[in-house]
Amino acid sequence: MTTSHYIAGRWVDGQGSDCISVNDPALGQPFAELMAASAEQVDQAVAAARAALPAWKCTSASERAAYLRGFAEQLGQRREALVTLQMRNNGKPRHEAEVDLDDAIATFGYYAELAEQLPGQNRDVPLAAPGFTARTRLEPVGVVGLIVPWNFPLVTSAWKLAPALAAGCTVVLKPSEVTPLCELAYGQIADTLGLPAGVLNIVNGKAETGAALSNHNGLDKLSFTGSNNVGSQVMRSAAAQCRPVTLELGGKSAILVFDDCDVDSAVQWIVAGICWNAGQMCSATSRLLVQDGIADALLPRLQAALENLRVGSPLSEEADMGPVTSQAQWLKVAGYFATAREEGLQCLVGGKVLDRGGWFVSPTLYADVPEGSRLWNEEIFGPVLCARRFASEQQAIAEANDSRFGLVATVCTTDLARAERVADALEVGHVWINSVQAVFVETSWGGTKGSGIGRELGPWGLSGYQSVKHVTRCLG
Ligand code: NAD
Repeated sequence: MTTSHYIAGRWVDGQGSDCISVNDPALGQPFAELMAASAEQVDQAVAAARAALPAWKCTSASERAAYLRGFAEQLGQRREALVTLQMRNNGKPRHEAEVDLDDAIATFGYYAELAEQLPGQNRDVPLAAPGFTARTRLEPVGVVGLIVPWNFPLVTSAWKLAPALAAGCTVVLKPSEVTPLCELAYGQIADTLGLPAGVLNIVNGKAETGAALSNHNGLDKLSFTGSNNVGSQVMRSAAAQCRPVTLELGGKSAILVFDDCDVDSAVQWIVAGICWNAGQMCSATSRLLVQDGIADALLPRLQAALENLRVGSPLSEEADMGPVTSQAQWLKVAGYFATAREEGLQCLVGGKVLDRGGWFVSPTLYADVPEGSRLWNEEIFGPVLCARRFASEQQAIAEANDSRFGLVATVCTTDLARAERVADALEVGHVWINSVQAVFVETSWGGTKGSGIGRELGPWGLSGYQSVKHVTRCLG
Protein backbone atom coordinates (compact mmCIF):
# COMPACT_ATOMS: atom_id res chain seq x y z
CA MET A 1 0.00 0.00 0.00
CA THR A 2 1.55 3.28 -1.07
CA THR A 3 -1.34 5.64 -1.80
CA SER A 4 -1.73 6.61 1.80
CA HIS A 5 -2.11 10.35 1.61
CA TYR A 6 -5.27 12.26 0.73
CA ILE A 7 -4.45 15.70 -0.66
CA ALA A 8 -6.83 18.04 -2.49
CA GLY A 9 -9.35 15.24 -2.94
CA ARG A 10 -6.83 12.84 -4.50
CA TRP A 11 -5.08 9.72 -3.23
CA VAL A 12 -1.33 10.04 -3.76
CA ASP A 13 1.86 8.09 -3.13
CA GLY A 14 4.18 9.27 -0.37
CA GLN A 15 7.25 11.08 -1.69
CA GLY A 16 9.11 11.39 1.61
CA SER A 17 12.22 9.43 2.53
CA ASP A 18 10.80 7.52 5.55
CA CYS A 19 9.31 4.09 5.06
CA ILE A 20 6.64 3.37 7.66
CA SER A 21 6.06 -0.22 8.81
CA VAL A 22 2.59 -1.01 10.05
CA ASN A 23 2.84 -3.71 12.72
CA ASP A 24 0.69 -6.34 14.33
CA PRO A 25 1.69 -6.06 18.01
CA ALA A 26 0.29 -9.50 18.88
CA LEU A 27 2.86 -11.02 16.50
CA GLY A 28 5.51 -8.31 16.68
CA GLN A 29 5.59 -8.31 12.87
CA PRO A 30 4.77 -5.86 10.08
CA PHE A 31 1.76 -6.44 7.83
CA ALA A 32 1.92 -3.33 5.61
CA GLU A 33 4.21 -0.48 4.74
CA LEU A 34 3.95 2.93 3.19
CA MET A 35 6.14 5.88 2.32
CA ALA A 36 5.78 9.05 4.38
CA ALA A 37 4.64 12.33 2.84
CA SER A 38 7.40 14.76 1.91
CA ALA A 39 7.56 18.36 3.14
CA GLU A 40 6.38 19.42 -0.35
CA GLN A 41 3.32 17.22 0.05
CA VAL A 42 2.59 18.83 3.41
CA ASP A 43 2.80 22.19 1.57
CA GLN A 44 0.35 20.90 -1.03
CA ALA A 45 -2.06 19.71 1.67
CA VAL A 46 -1.98 23.09 3.45
CA ALA A 47 -2.41 24.90 0.12
CA ALA A 48 -5.40 22.68 -0.72
CA ALA A 49 -6.99 23.40 2.68
CA ARG A 50 -6.38 27.15 2.15
CA ALA A 51 -7.95 27.04 -1.33
CA ALA A 52 -11.01 25.16 -0.04
CA LEU A 53 -11.61 27.49 2.94
CA PRO A 54 -13.54 30.41 1.33
CA ALA A 55 -16.25 28.15 -0.10
CA TRP A 56 -16.40 25.74 2.87
CA LYS A 57 -16.77 28.46 5.48
CA CYS A 58 -19.71 29.87 3.52
CA THR A 59 -21.60 26.57 3.42
CA SER A 60 -24.71 26.57 5.57
CA ALA A 61 -24.52 24.92 8.96
CA SER A 62 -27.14 22.39 7.84
CA GLU A 63 -25.01 21.47 4.81
CA ARG A 64 -22.03 20.83 7.07
CA ALA A 65 -24.23 18.89 9.48
CA ALA A 66 -25.35 16.65 6.60
CA TYR A 67 -21.71 15.83 5.81
CA LEU A 68 -21.02 15.08 9.49
CA ARG A 69 -24.03 12.75 9.66
CA GLY A 70 -22.65 11.13 6.51
CA PHE A 71 -19.34 10.53 8.31
CA ALA A 72 -21.19 8.91 11.24
CA GLU A 73 -23.22 6.69 8.92
CA GLN A 74 -20.26 5.70 6.74
CA LEU A 75 -18.17 4.81 9.79
CA GLY A 76 -20.99 2.47 10.78
CA GLN A 77 -20.99 0.91 7.32
CA ARG A 78 -17.26 0.20 7.63
CA ARG A 79 -17.67 -1.28 11.11
CA GLU A 80 -16.15 -4.71 10.59
CA ALA A 81 -13.15 -3.44 8.60
CA LEU A 82 -12.37 -0.69 11.12
CA VAL A 83 -12.83 -2.91 14.17
CA THR A 84 -10.56 -5.54 12.63
CA LEU A 85 -7.93 -2.97 11.69
CA GLN A 86 -7.79 -1.60 15.23
CA MET A 87 -7.53 -5.13 16.64
CA ARG A 88 -4.71 -5.90 14.24
CA ASN A 89 -2.72 -2.66 14.38
CA ASN A 90 -3.47 -1.44 17.94
CA GLY A 91 -3.82 -4.82 19.64
CA LYS A 92 -7.24 -3.85 21.04
CA PRO A 93 -9.60 -6.68 21.98
CA ARG A 94 -12.79 -6.61 19.89
CA HIS A 95 -14.99 -5.04 22.58
CA GLU A 96 -12.53 -2.14 22.98
CA ALA A 97 -12.25 -1.62 19.23
CA GLU A 98 -16.06 -1.52 19.05
CA VAL A 99 -16.24 1.11 21.81
CA ASP A 100 -13.76 3.30 19.90
CA LEU A 101 -15.75 3.08 16.69
CA ASP A 102 -18.99 3.91 18.50
CA ASP A 103 -17.29 6.88 20.17
CA ALA A 104 -16.18 8.23 16.77
CA ILE A 105 -19.69 7.74 15.35
CA ALA A 106 -21.26 9.52 18.35
CA THR A 107 -18.80 12.41 17.98
CA PHE A 108 -19.74 13.09 14.35
CA GLY A 109 -23.45 12.81 15.22
CA TYR A 110 -23.11 15.20 18.15
CA TYR A 111 -21.26 17.89 16.18
CA ALA A 112 -23.79 17.58 13.35
CA GLU A 113 -26.41 18.69 15.89
CA LEU A 114 -24.24 21.49 17.28
CA ALA A 115 -23.52 22.72 13.74
CA GLU A 116 -27.25 23.08 13.17
CA GLN A 117 -27.53 25.28 16.24
CA LEU A 118 -24.85 27.64 14.89
CA PRO A 119 -27.12 30.20 13.21
CA GLY A 120 -28.72 30.86 16.61
CA GLN A 121 -25.29 31.71 17.98
CA ASN A 122 -25.05 34.82 15.79
CA ARG A 123 -26.86 37.06 18.19
CA ASP A 124 -27.40 40.62 19.28
CA VAL A 125 -25.45 41.89 22.26
CA PRO A 126 -27.39 44.35 24.46
CA LEU A 127 -25.34 47.50 25.17
CA ALA A 128 -25.72 49.81 28.17
CA ALA A 129 -24.55 52.78 26.08
CA PRO A 130 -27.20 54.37 23.81
CA GLY A 131 -26.63 54.99 20.11
CA PHE A 132 -25.03 51.68 19.16
CA THR A 133 -26.05 48.14 18.33
CA ALA A 134 -23.75 45.14 18.48
CA ARG A 135 -23.92 41.52 17.37
CA THR A 136 -21.59 38.54 17.57
CA ARG A 137 -20.64 36.27 14.75
CA LEU A 138 -18.88 32.96 15.34
CA GLU A 139 -16.46 32.36 12.49
CA PRO A 140 -14.21 29.42 11.70
CA VAL A 141 -10.60 29.85 12.85
CA GLY A 142 -9.47 28.94 9.32
CA VAL A 143 -7.00 26.29 8.17
CA VAL A 144 -6.20 23.91 11.02
CA GLY A 145 -3.42 21.35 11.42
CA LEU A 146 -4.38 18.27 13.45
CA ILE A 147 -1.63 16.00 14.81
CA VAL A 148 -2.66 12.87 16.71
CA PRO A 149 -1.15 9.85 18.51
CA TRP A 150 -1.77 6.12 18.12
CA ASN A 151 -3.61 4.96 21.21
CA PHE A 152 -7.18 5.80 20.09
CA PRO A 153 -6.64 6.72 16.43
CA LEU A 154 -10.26 6.82 15.24
CA VAL A 155 -11.45 8.60 18.37
CA THR A 156 -8.78 11.25 18.82
CA SER A 157 -9.08 12.23 15.18
CA ALA A 158 -12.90 12.34 15.36
CA TRP A 159 -12.69 14.63 18.43
CA LYS A 160 -10.75 17.12 16.29
CA LEU A 161 -12.15 16.57 12.80
CA ALA A 162 -15.86 16.71 13.64
CA PRO A 163 -15.85 20.06 15.51
CA ALA A 164 -13.34 21.59 13.06
CA LEU A 165 -15.53 20.72 10.05
CA ALA A 166 -18.68 21.74 11.95
CA ALA A 167 -17.16 25.16 12.65
CA GLY A 168 -16.34 25.64 8.94
CA CYS A 169 -12.58 25.07 9.17
CA THR A 170 -10.59 23.13 6.59
CA VAL A 171 -8.01 20.70 7.91
CA VAL A 172 -4.78 18.81 7.40
CA LEU A 173 -4.68 15.70 9.58
CA LYS A 174 -1.46 13.87 10.41
CA PRO A 175 -2.09 10.46 11.99
CA SER A 176 0.56 8.66 14.02
CA GLU A 177 3.17 6.64 12.14
CA VAL A 178 2.31 3.74 14.48
CA THR A 179 -1.31 3.57 13.26
CA PRO A 180 -1.34 5.27 9.84
CA LEU A 181 -4.18 3.26 8.28
CA CYS A 182 -7.24 3.83 10.50
CA GLU A 183 -7.74 7.48 9.67
CA LEU A 184 -7.49 6.82 5.94
CA ALA A 185 -11.13 5.76 6.38
CA TYR A 186 -11.95 9.43 6.90
CA GLY A 187 -10.48 10.22 3.46
CA GLN A 188 -12.40 7.35 1.87
CA ILE A 189 -15.59 8.62 3.50
CA ALA A 190 -14.88 12.15 2.27
CA ASP A 191 -14.62 10.67 -1.24
CA THR A 192 -17.85 8.72 -0.87
CA LEU A 193 -19.74 11.74 0.43
CA GLY A 194 -18.34 14.10 -2.19
CA LEU A 195 -16.84 16.41 0.45
CA PRO A 196 -15.35 19.32 -1.53
CA ALA A 197 -11.70 18.69 -2.41
CA GLY A 198 -9.24 20.20 0.08
CA VAL A 199 -11.66 20.45 3.03
CA LEU A 200 -10.04 17.35 4.56
CA ASN A 201 -6.45 16.40 3.77
CA ILE A 202 -4.51 13.54 5.35
CA VAL A 203 -0.72 13.27 5.33
CA ASN A 204 1.01 10.32 6.92
CA GLY A 205 4.52 10.38 8.31
CA LYS A 206 6.83 10.38 11.29
CA ALA A 207 8.21 13.28 13.36
CA GLU A 208 9.62 15.02 10.28
CA THR A 209 6.19 15.18 8.64
CA GLY A 210 4.62 16.33 11.91
CA ALA A 211 7.23 19.07 12.25
CA ALA A 212 6.68 20.16 8.63
CA LEU A 213 3.00 20.60 9.48
CA SER A 214 3.40 22.24 12.89
CA ASN A 215 6.04 24.66 11.55
CA HIS A 216 3.99 25.52 8.47
CA ASN A 217 3.20 29.20 8.12
CA GLY A 218 -0.01 28.49 6.20
CA LEU A 219 -1.96 27.31 9.26
CA ASP A 220 -4.27 29.44 11.39
CA LYS A 221 -4.23 27.01 14.32
CA LEU A 222 -2.72 23.72 15.37
CA SER A 223 -4.42 21.12 17.55
CA PHE A 224 -2.10 18.47 18.94
CA THR A 225 -2.62 15.34 21.02
CA GLY A 226 0.45 13.46 22.15
CA SER A 227 3.40 13.49 24.52
CA ASN A 228 4.57 16.47 26.56
CA ASN A 229 7.94 16.35 24.88
CA VAL A 230 6.53 16.79 21.38
CA GLY A 231 3.76 19.06 22.67
CA SER A 232 6.37 21.48 23.89
CA GLN A 233 8.03 21.53 20.44
CA VAL A 234 4.64 22.11 18.82
CA MET A 235 4.00 24.96 21.25
CA ARG A 236 7.36 26.51 20.36
CA SER A 237 6.39 26.45 16.68
CA ALA A 238 3.07 28.06 17.52
CA ALA A 239 4.83 30.69 19.65
CA ALA A 240 7.23 31.50 16.81
CA GLN A 241 4.23 32.40 14.67
CA CYS A 242 2.01 33.75 17.49
CA ARG A 243 -0.61 31.22 16.50
CA PRO A 244 -3.23 29.52 18.72
CA VAL A 245 -2.64 25.96 19.78
CA THR A 246 -4.65 23.31 21.58
CA LEU A 247 -2.61 20.68 23.42
CA GLU A 248 -3.93 17.40 24.81
CA LEU A 249 -0.94 15.91 26.61
CA GLY A 250 -0.01 13.28 29.16
CA GLY A 251 -1.27 12.35 32.59
CA LYS A 252 -0.44 10.56 35.82
CA SER A 253 -3.89 10.42 37.30
CA ALA A 254 -5.06 9.24 40.69
CA ILE A 255 -7.85 6.94 41.78
CA LEU A 256 -8.83 7.69 45.40
CA VAL A 257 -10.44 4.82 47.27
CA PHE A 258 -12.01 5.64 50.65
CA ASP A 259 -12.75 3.24 53.53
CA ASP A 260 -16.49 3.36 52.90
CA CYS A 261 -16.35 2.30 49.23
CA ASP A 262 -17.94 -0.79 47.75
CA VAL A 263 -14.82 -2.98 47.52
CA ASP A 264 -15.94 -5.20 44.62
CA SER A 265 -16.85 -2.19 42.48
CA ALA A 266 -13.66 -0.36 43.46
CA VAL A 267 -11.55 -3.33 42.33
CA GLN A 268 -13.31 -3.32 38.95
CA TRP A 269 -12.81 0.42 38.51
CA ILE A 270 -9.16 0.23 39.49
CA VAL A 271 -8.49 -2.60 37.02
CA ALA A 272 -10.35 -0.88 34.17
CA GLY A 273 -8.59 2.41 34.89
CA ILE A 274 -5.17 0.82 34.35
CA CYS A 275 -5.77 -2.13 31.99
CA TRP A 276 -8.20 -0.76 29.38
CA ASN A 277 -6.23 -0.37 26.13
CA ALA A 278 -3.33 -2.11 27.95
CA GLY A 279 -2.95 1.01 30.06
CA GLN A 280 -2.13 3.16 27.02
CA MET A 281 -4.46 5.97 28.01
CA CYS A 282 -3.53 9.55 28.78
CA SER A 283 -6.30 9.24 31.39
CA ALA A 284 -5.05 5.98 32.96
CA THR A 285 -5.59 6.16 36.72
CA SER A 286 -2.12 4.82 37.38
CA ARG A 287 -1.73 6.14 40.94
CA LEU A 288 -3.91 4.28 43.44
CA LEU A 289 -4.49 6.11 46.73
CA VAL A 290 -6.19 3.76 49.18
CA GLN A 291 -7.33 4.67 52.69
CA ASP A 292 -5.67 2.85 55.61
CA GLY A 293 -8.85 1.21 56.88
CA ILE A 294 -9.56 -0.66 53.66
CA ALA A 295 -6.09 -1.18 52.18
CA ASP A 296 -5.47 -4.62 53.70
CA ALA A 297 -8.81 -5.90 52.41
CA LEU A 298 -8.60 -4.28 49.00
CA LEU A 299 -5.02 -4.92 47.89
CA PRO A 300 -5.18 -8.78 47.93
CA ARG A 301 -8.45 -8.67 45.95
CA LEU A 302 -6.92 -6.26 43.48
CA GLN A 303 -3.87 -8.50 43.19
CA ALA A 304 -6.11 -11.51 42.45
CA ALA A 305 -8.13 -9.56 39.87
CA LEU A 306 -4.95 -8.50 38.03
CA GLU A 307 -3.53 -12.04 38.17
CA ASN A 308 -6.76 -13.41 36.70
CA LEU A 309 -6.89 -10.92 33.85
CA ARG A 310 -6.51 -12.84 30.58
CA VAL A 311 -3.75 -11.30 28.47
CA GLY A 312 -3.74 -12.52 24.89
CA SER A 313 -4.17 -11.95 21.20
CA PRO A 314 -6.98 -9.51 20.45
CA LEU A 315 -8.25 -12.03 17.91
CA SER A 316 -9.01 -14.44 20.75
CA GLU A 317 -12.49 -14.07 22.26
CA GLU A 318 -10.89 -14.88 25.61
CA ALA A 319 -8.55 -11.89 25.88
CA ASP A 320 -9.35 -9.19 28.45
CA MET A 321 -6.20 -7.25 27.54
CA GLY A 322 -4.11 -7.27 24.39
CA PRO A 323 -0.44 -6.39 23.82
CA VAL A 324 0.90 -2.85 23.96
CA THR A 325 0.78 -1.29 20.54
CA SER A 326 4.41 -0.80 19.58
CA GLN A 327 7.82 -2.25 20.27
CA ALA A 328 8.94 1.17 21.51
CA GLN A 329 6.14 1.15 24.07
CA TRP A 330 6.98 -2.43 25.08
CA LEU A 331 10.62 -1.46 25.65
CA LYS A 332 9.56 1.63 27.58
CA VAL A 333 7.36 -0.40 29.95
CA ALA A 334 10.15 -2.99 30.33
CA GLY A 335 12.49 -0.10 31.24
CA TYR A 336 10.12 0.93 34.05
CA PHE A 337 10.06 -2.66 35.35
CA ALA A 338 13.87 -2.47 35.54
CA THR A 339 13.67 0.90 37.32
CA ALA A 340 11.19 -0.58 39.81
CA ARG A 341 13.69 -3.34 40.60
CA GLU A 342 16.49 -0.78 41.02
CA GLU A 343 14.27 1.30 43.30
CA GLY A 344 13.43 -1.83 45.32
CA LEU A 345 9.67 -1.44 44.86
CA GLN A 346 7.39 -4.10 46.31
CA CYS A 347 5.78 -5.88 43.33
CA LEU A 348 2.50 -7.63 44.23
CA VAL A 349 1.78 -8.86 40.70
CA GLY A 350 3.40 -8.71 37.24
CA GLY A 351 6.50 -6.58 36.78
CA LYS A 352 7.63 -8.45 33.67
CA VAL A 353 7.20 -8.61 29.92
CA LEU A 354 5.69 -11.85 28.60
CA ASP A 355 7.66 -14.14 26.33
CA ARG A 356 5.00 -14.74 23.67
CA GLY A 357 6.40 -13.40 20.42
CA GLY A 358 4.31 -10.22 20.46
CA TRP A 359 4.56 -7.12 22.64
CA PHE A 360 2.77 -8.39 25.72
CA VAL A 361 3.34 -7.19 29.28
CA SER A 362 1.73 -8.42 32.47
CA PRO A 363 -0.70 -6.27 34.43
CA THR A 364 1.39 -4.94 37.30
CA LEU A 365 0.85 -3.65 40.82
CA TYR A 366 3.48 -2.07 43.06
CA ALA A 367 2.51 -1.40 46.69
CA ASP A 368 3.59 1.32 49.12
CA VAL A 369 5.51 3.15 46.40
CA PRO A 370 7.54 6.08 47.81
CA GLU A 371 6.48 9.58 46.72
CA GLY A 372 9.87 10.16 45.13
CA SER A 373 9.75 7.04 42.92
CA ARG A 374 9.99 7.59 39.17
CA LEU A 375 7.13 5.15 38.76
CA TRP A 376 4.91 7.25 41.02
CA ASN A 377 5.64 10.43 39.08
CA GLU A 378 6.20 9.58 35.41
CA GLU A 379 3.67 8.58 32.76
CA ILE A 380 4.41 4.94 31.87
CA PHE A 381 1.59 4.33 29.37
CA GLY A 382 1.18 0.66 30.17
CA PRO A 383 -0.77 -1.54 32.63
CA VAL A 384 1.41 -0.55 35.57
CA LEU A 385 -0.29 0.57 38.77
CA CYS A 386 1.42 2.13 41.79
CA ALA A 387 -0.34 2.18 45.16
CA ARG A 388 0.07 4.30 48.29
CA ARG A 389 -1.98 4.44 51.49
CA PHE A 390 -3.49 7.56 53.04
CA ALA A 391 -5.03 8.39 56.40
CA SER A 392 -7.24 11.44 55.79
CA GLU A 393 -9.22 13.05 53.01
CA GLN A 394 -6.88 16.07 53.08
CA GLN A 395 -3.84 13.84 52.67
CA ALA A 396 -5.45 12.03 49.72
CA ILE A 397 -6.27 15.30 47.96
CA ALA A 398 -2.77 16.68 48.59
CA GLU A 399 -1.09 13.54 47.21
CA ALA A 400 -3.39 13.38 44.18
CA ASN A 401 -2.69 17.04 43.40
CA ASP A 402 1.05 16.64 43.88
CA SER A 403 1.77 16.08 40.17
CA ARG A 404 2.94 18.12 37.24
CA PHE A 405 -0.04 16.67 35.34
CA GLY A 406 -3.76 17.32 35.90
CA LEU A 407 -5.84 15.32 33.48
CA VAL A 408 -8.42 13.21 35.35
CA ALA A 409 -9.18 11.48 38.67
CA THR A 410 -11.59 8.87 40.00
CA VAL A 411 -13.14 8.98 43.48
CA CYS A 412 -14.58 5.78 45.02
CA THR A 413 -16.77 6.31 48.08
CA THR A 414 -20.37 5.77 49.14
CA ASP A 415 -20.37 9.16 50.93
CA LEU A 416 -21.60 11.35 48.09
CA ALA A 417 -21.06 14.61 49.97
CA ARG A 418 -17.41 13.64 50.37
CA ALA A 419 -17.24 12.58 46.72
CA GLU A 420 -18.42 15.98 45.51
CA ARG A 421 -16.14 17.83 47.97
CA VAL A 422 -13.09 15.84 46.87
CA ALA A 423 -14.03 16.25 43.19
CA ASP A 424 -14.09 20.02 43.67
CA ALA A 425 -10.66 19.99 45.33
CA LEU A 426 -8.85 17.94 42.70
CA GLU A 427 -6.71 19.94 40.23
CA VAL A 428 -7.75 18.09 37.08
CA GLY A 429 -9.95 18.53 34.00
CA HIS A 430 -12.37 15.66 34.66
CA VAL A 431 -13.38 13.72 37.78
CA TRP A 432 -15.31 10.43 37.78
CA ILE A 433 -17.27 9.53 40.91
CA ASN A 434 -17.82 5.78 41.32
CA SER A 435 -17.09 5.17 37.65
CA VAL A 436 -14.02 5.14 35.48
CA GLN A 437 -13.05 6.31 31.99
CA ALA A 438 -16.67 7.18 31.16
CA VAL A 439 -16.36 9.72 28.37
CA PHE A 440 -19.43 11.37 26.87
CA VAL A 441 -19.38 13.66 23.84
CA GLU A 442 -21.38 16.28 25.72
CA THR A 443 -18.76 16.69 28.49
CA SER A 444 -15.39 18.34 28.07
CA TRP A 445 -12.02 16.63 27.68
CA GLY A 446 -8.68 18.16 28.59
CA GLY A 447 -6.42 18.86 31.51
CA THR A 448 -4.88 21.40 33.83
CA LYS A 449 -1.16 22.02 34.50
CA GLY A 450 1.13 19.90 32.29
CA SER A 451 -1.78 17.95 30.79
CA GLY A 452 -2.47 20.59 28.20
CA ILE A 453 -4.17 23.72 26.98
CA GLY A 454 -7.79 23.92 25.87
CA ARG A 455 -10.70 21.51 25.89
CA GLU A 456 -12.12 19.04 23.40
CA LEU A 457 -15.65 17.61 23.17
CA GLY A 458 -18.90 19.36 24.08
CA PRO A 459 -19.46 22.96 23.02
CA TRP A 460 -15.91 23.71 24.24
CA GLY A 461 -14.55 21.44 21.51
CA LEU A 462 -16.44 23.44 18.89
CA SER A 463 -15.40 26.82 20.27
CA GLY A 464 -11.76 25.74 19.93
CA TYR A 465 -12.27 26.04 16.17
CA GLN A 466 -14.26 29.27 16.26
CA SER A 467 -13.27 32.88 16.40
CA VAL A 468 -15.60 35.49 17.94
CA LYS A 469 -16.26 38.59 15.88
CA HIS A 470 -18.31 41.54 17.11
CA VAL A 471 -20.00 43.91 14.70
CA THR A 472 -20.80 47.26 16.35
CA ARG A 473 -22.90 49.83 14.50
CA CYS A 474 -23.36 53.49 15.32
CA LEU A 475 -27.02 54.47 14.97
CA GLY A 476 -26.35 58.20 14.69
P1 NAD B 1 4.04 11.60 20.41
O1 NAD B 1 4.08 12.95 21.00
O2 NAD B 1 5.28 10.83 20.27
O3 NAD B 1 3.41 11.66 18.94
C1 NAD B 1 2.16 12.30 18.70
C2 NAD B 1 2.12 12.76 17.24
O4 NAD B 1 3.11 13.78 17.05
C3 NAD B 1 2.44 11.67 16.22
O5 NAD B 1 1.60 11.83 15.10
C4 NAD B 1 3.89 11.96 15.85
O6 NAD B 1 4.27 11.51 14.57
C5 NAD B 1 3.90 13.48 15.91
N1 NAD B 1 5.23 14.08 16.10
C6 NAD B 1 6.36 13.49 16.59
N2 NAD B 1 7.37 14.39 16.64
C7 NAD B 1 6.86 15.56 16.16
C8 NAD B 1 7.41 16.87 15.98
N3 NAD B 1 8.67 17.13 16.28
N4 NAD B 1 6.60 17.84 15.51
C9 NAD B 1 5.30 17.59 15.23
N5 NAD B 1 4.73 16.37 15.36
C10 NAD B 1 5.51 15.36 15.83
O7 NAD B 1 2.95 10.79 21.27
P2 NAD B 1 2.49 9.28 21.11
O8 NAD B 1 3.57 8.38 21.63
O9 NAD B 1 2.00 9.07 19.73
O10 NAD B 1 1.23 9.25 22.11
C11 NAD B 1 1.33 9.03 23.48
C12 NAD B 1 1.17 10.33 24.24
O11 NAD B 1 -0.05 10.97 23.87
C13 NAD B 1 1.06 10.10 25.73
O12 NAD B 1 1.87 11.03 26.41
C14 NAD B 1 -0.40 10.35 26.03
O13 NAD B 1 -0.67 10.75 27.36
C15 NAD B 1 -0.75 11.40 25.03
N6 NAD B 1 -2.19 11.43 24.79
C16 NAD B 1 -2.92 12.45 25.32
C17 NAD B 1 -4.30 12.47 25.15
C18 NAD B 1 -5.15 13.57 25.75
O14 NAD B 1 -6.31 13.69 25.36
N7 NAD B 1 -4.65 14.36 26.68
C19 NAD B 1 -4.93 11.48 24.40
C20 NAD B 1 -4.15 10.46 23.87
C21 NAD B 1 -2.77 10.46 24.06
